[in-house]
Amino acid sequence: MSLLFGTAAFNEEDHLVIGGCDTTKLAEKYGTPLFIYDVAHIREKARGFKRTLDELGVKNKVVYASKAFGCLAMYKLLEEENLGCDVVSGGELYTALKGGMSPENIEFHGNNKLKSELELAVDSHVGTIVVDNFYELELLKELTSAKNVEQAVMLRVTPGVNAETHDYILTGQVDSKFGFDVNSGQATKAMDIVMATKGLTLQGIHCHIGSQIFAPEGFLVAVERMMSILKEWKEDKGYIAPVLNMGGGFGIKYTEEDTPLEPEKFVQAIVEAVKGQCSLMDYPLPELWIEPGRSIVAEAGTTLYTVGAQKIIPDVRHYVSVDGGMGDNIRPALYGAEYTGMLANRISEENKSHVAVVGKYCESGDILIKDIELPEMVSGDLFAMVSTGAYGYSMASNYNRNPKAAVVFVEDGKDRLVIRRETYEDLVSLDCE
Ligand SMILES: *Cc1c(COP(=O)(O)O)cnc(C)c1O
Repeated sequence: MSLLFGTAAFNEEDHLVIGGCDTTKLAEKYGTPLFIYDVAHIREKARGFKRTLDELGVKNKVVYASKAFGCLAMYKLLEEENLGCDVVSGGELYTALKGGMSPENIEFHGNNKLKSELELAVDSHVGTIVVDNFYELELLKELTSAKNVEQAVMLRVTPGVNAETHDYILTGQVDSKFGFDVNSGQATKAMDIVMATKGLTLQGIHCHIGSQIFAPEGFLVAVERMMSILKEWKEDKGYIAPVLNMGGGFGIKYTEEDTPLEPEKFVQAIVEAVKGQCSLMDYPLPELWIEPGRSIVAEAGTTLYTVGAQKIIPDVRHYVSVDGGMGDNIRPALYGAEYTGMLANRISEENKSHVAVVGKYCESGDILIKDIELPEMVSGDLFAMVSTGAYGYSMASNYNRNPKAAVVFVEDGKDRLVIRRETYEDLVSLDCE
């Protein structure tokens, strides 16, 4: 049996059911490829982070990282769940505002924010702009002075910890395009500039140490480093940070082999480390912000594909082609991401075939799953790939001029189209003759 997350189950017809909706019916109604999001599962993840932070008695903000998956309905859901969101472009900011996010709950990130994007952010009164570099500081200085407004900012710093899955790497000098370097004194110089700028208020510091992280150690070292920056600024400049933002990156389960720590445990470890450092250095406990993206939406998402052609090369490989691929999920081709899945219309049938599930795009690298055991399949079967809710649709492309897939939200037996399928007309709508 494959991975079943959240409300996923199977009914007496042996069909995959998500959010109380039979996925074979969803395929009939909306077509495939189809992204299906289990809304109850998203709510549960969002509430889990919030509850844990509240129970640990720390003032907090859970800021969803929009780039994992964003659309009007998603922002509406975040607002319902009292989550903030971060955005990394004018387009994400526009969508968040249009989706009803309160501006004060929006954080603006990015290593090369355009002047026009910063202006949109300031004019929309976003809660925080996470400043990444000196160029941006200059732009913000000009903007706030020209408009005679105040803008809260945080400084993104690189604490010298890079975390990935089980390991983290300590790098003295940080080779990253993001944030102010600490060791060379850039972070402190940026702090001085913000403090001396009338239109800017310094809320605190931010770091983001990696993605798909399974173990807490990297975060603990990062907390230590972040707190030592704050300690220095307190001693040298009398500055006390209201907020410490530790970023996101909490790992999720893509396949049975993935064993991430539960999100709550990450949060617990981080809070304990912050509390420990604060009492050690007699520092007032700052508000703690986290920015989970993947860990809120990945497991809630399933992509439904229709099986088409098959090619069996004796003693070599059995290819099963589906009607989507790298255009709706670039992650396997981009960085070898691994996934699993099941037949949505015969979920508990015995696995008899060892196959590669591949897409329809004109690239040999368009392989969704290289090795998987599945029942024998015929054209028209429905293949459900699980844990596709993060960095799938948000990275979708129109390669080969394939229209982008549709996205539905399911909850309590009801389905709701939240992004319609692209049409051929949509595909030429930007073309000029
Ligand atoms: C991508 C990103 C996140 C979210 O990362 P996940 O791995 O999806 O949790 C959070 N903060 C920043 C600054 C990011 O760039």
